[in-house]
Amino acid sequence: MPDLFVDGRWVQARAGGRREIRCPADGALVANVDEATAADTVGAITAARAAFDEGTWPGTSAADRGALLHRVADRLAADKAAIARAESLDTGKRYVESQYDVDDVVAVFRHYAGVTGQDAGRVVDPGRPDVVSRIVHEPVGVCGLITPWNYPLLQVSWKVAPALAAGCTFVLKPSELTPSTAILLMRILDDVGLPPGVGNLVLGAGAQVAAPLAEHPDVDLVSFTGGLATGRTVMAAAAGTVKKIALELGGKNPNIVFADADREVALDFALTAVFLHSGQVCSAGARLVIDEAIHHEFVDELVTRAGKIRLGGPFDPDAETGPLISAAHRDKVERYVEAGVAAGAVLRCGGARPDDPALAGGHYYPPTILDGCRSEMAVVQEESFGPVLTVETFDGEDDAVRLANDSRYGLAGAVWTQNAGRAERVAARLRMGTVWINDYHPYVPQAEWGGYKQSGVGRELGRAGLAEYHETKHVWHNVRPTVQHWFGS
Ligand code: NAD
Repeated sequence: MPDLFVDGRWVQARAGGRREIRCPADGALVANVDEATAADTVGAITAARAAFDEGTWPGTSAADRGALLHRVADRLAADKAAIARAESLDTGKRYVESQYDVDDVVAVFRHYAGVTGQDAGRVVDPGRPDVVSRIVHEPVGVCGLITPWNYPLLQVSWKVAPALAAGCTFVLKPSELTPSTAILLMRILDDVGLPPGVGNLVLGAGAQVAAPLAEHPDVDLVSFTGGLATGRTVMAAAAGTVKKIALELGGKNPNIVFADADREVALDFALTAVFLHSGQVCSAGARLVIDEAIHHEFVDELVTRAGKIRLGGPFDPDAETGPLISAAHRDKVERYVEAGVAAGAVLRCGGARPDDPALAGGHYYPPTILDGCRSEMAVVQEESFGPVLTVETFDGEDDAVRLANDSRYGLAGAVWTQNAGRAERVAARLRMGTVWINDYHPYVPQAEWGGYKQSGVGRELGRAGLAEYHETKHVWHNVRPTVQHWFGS
């Protein structure tokens, strides 16, 4: 069966290209999928444009859009095992984590199913009895949706669900490394009766296949999640047609631990913050910013625990985390660690590929802790997107905030303390889109997600996440028009 979905039909790539998808855990062939070219993307944009301008979907009632999203959620829940398996094979992540991810995807579709009619607009007082003045929210139009490989279907759901809830049409281009679950989702959308052309899927390399989504005049909004450098390219390309943009980019997120934090909980979460999914999480707590009063003892214990984390493939019941996505990505992580050590950081654990022959076929890299880091080091400032924790110490609240904010990024961060006043003061001063107090990683679809500074533009999830897919129109209705005689005639 072909893998591209355009105008309600499954089609092959026009130029006949194919791409092998291999499991990062062992290199096994997972799938061989169509590899599109820009021409396929332009064809998909044309279909989405026609479905928006001439089709029924934008005018479908909020209740019917919500009902369709509920049907999608039902199917995703029913197919959870197969979807989680596909996600694990593409990404190498543990099957149990992929199952949690599918639960989250279901929750995202259910959330948007429930809010389709929430922003129906409002009547405003024009100060005149002869005028009815109202604000209406309309679908923004054709959306180009570009997503990364770390949480493939979850990132797709954060865009597809609100786009459909708002009445938009879309062309989706998932990461070329992890396309399988996007294909499964499109099959579900096809099955539950999404009209032809409303949802379209193209697959392949970003610079060829996704670039038209940022450039093409028939695309009204490009919503991109990925790295900072690619985000800049997308933003610049979108400027040519002044289309709306939403960018969810990287992070280099501080996890601030004060001496009065609950030690056991803070230690436990410091590990999860950075080593979950082998650090391939945009909001990973990759910078430990720790009170100098507890630095040595806390880091010693972290090192002990990090050294015991078991690596393994997605279906290994003993594995606690999996491989990195690709050989190239592992090389990049390695280079950051080497640069950190060369700049004076102290390697406390990890820092070398595992020698276990059972892991030889995968792109594994162990949990790594670099102590004695300084803010200006590349390994502190840049996103390695791997299992690498840098440690910086602070002296007092102001110093903690200064260090935490010393970053071009502003996606997320956490503060650990039992002093509620301090927690609130620090949270208020962090220039980040999400701040956790005495916790790390949770999010809910009801709450906005996104970045300050170079972590992005706009928000996903929450009310603002739906608003990204709306245009706002003011309708001024003069119910008793009379001549004005502004001019003399
Ligand atoms: P990436 O930037 O390499 O790729 C992201 C997507 O962009 C892919 O689909 C890719 O094919 C496409 N792309 C590549 N070149 C393009 C171009 N010239 N024009 C348009 N699209 C292009 O990112 P990645 O390696 O897939 O993902 C990891 C990055 O994603 C990390 O930086 C991570 O922090 C970020 N991320 C952010 C969030 C968030 O919510 N802020 C969530 C997940 C991941």
